[in-house]
Amino acid sequence: MTYLDYQATTPVAPEVVDAMQPWLGDKFANPHAPYTAGREAAAAIELARGRIERAMGVPDGQCVFTGSATEAINWAIKGVLRTRRVKRFVTLATEHAAVLDCAEWARSVGHEVEIVPVGQDGLVNMEALDAALTGGVDFVAAMLVNNEIGVIQPIAEIAAKAKAAGALMLCDAVQALGRIVIPSGPDMIAVSGHKIHGPKGIGALWLDKGLAPEPLLHGGGQEQGLRSGTLSPMLSVGFGTAAKVAEERFEQDRAHVEALWQTATLALGDDWIINGSTEHRYRGNLNIRRGGLDAARLISDLRDLQISLGSACASGSGRPSHVLKAIGLSDREARSSIRISFGRYTDEKALREAIQRIDAAARAQ
Ligand code: PLP
Repeated sequence: MTYLDYQATTPVAPEVVDAMQPWLGDKFANPHAPYTAGREAAAAIELARGRIERAMGVPDGQCVFTGSATEAINWAIKGVLRTRRVKRFVTLATEHAAVLDCAEWARSVGHEVEIVPVGQDGLVNMEALDAALTGGVDFVAAMLVNNEIGVIQPIAEIAAKAKAAGALMLCDAVQALGRIVIPSGPDMIAVSGHKIHGPKGIGALWLDKGLAPEPLLHGGGQEQGLRSGTLSPMLSVGFGTAAKVAEERFEQDRAHVEALWQTATLALGDDWIINGSTEHRYRGNLNIRRGGLDAARLISDLRDLQISLGSACASGSGRPSHVLKAIGLSDREARSSIRISFGRYTDEKALREAIQRIDAAARAQ
């Protein structure tokens, strides 16, 4: 089994497993309880929060824990739309479903929504963005590293334009945390534990100082009333440890991913085309297509290789990926595309062999 689906989720780091263990056993106290065991759990959560903020490299402000990045994104968008009585919401065609489905929801409740196109390289069309940002806009959402094609959007530039237009900006940095530096500028940033070798079921929304979107969840008033629900010390500690390890290993992980990219692209035959920019890209993503390839068949022929048709959410729906469509691919080209993603624990030799097998299986079709 070779795991090459790092953008769907990442293997849990051994340091994370060790750090989480005690919170599954004896350390079960409610972190919101006033006695010693509760305070100990609360302190562990605060330590984890600080580690995540440090790995994100964010200025003053606060990271609020959520159950996932999907929740963080829903909260940011719906909370701001409600709080600010936002009229116009601008986002990009290649966003994750969490953003695009919220945009659909926003439209359904009467907001104006504008979806800005991207070029063939997957980068935002700046002229279209400028046009969308004129005439009064209140909220902008843009992703840093794309989960399907790895393309890195110019977030600092988008944030500056959003600010100049008087809009608040959310950045989905789920695929960026621990992998590339998160630029400053956005007012809110969504991240997720399981994309950085942490546990599933926990995410966070970083809020710039003074921002407090209307809560999505009401109840016990945890997280300073912003997100009700008992926090999980186990998940928070796991996420925090993953962030600490990611920060410590940042350069090492980056160099390893670069070496893997070189190995993978060298091993590819001539007939493959890389989808999206190779220059403005996180190199742990190799989304490729080959003329006439039946990608679904390839994947079922090579079941011991864990690769994907696109985003894990889009796979299985039968619909061609909206990201590949947005960069101008035909349905046929999108269906000839596969996503290979790798990272910290990927072995170079195993990756080379996997690519060679993919190439051979494609040729044999
Ligand atoms: N945004 C991006 C770019 C993602 O890749 C994902 C996960 O697939 C999400 C958001 C949602 O994250 P979560 O699984 O924590 O809800």
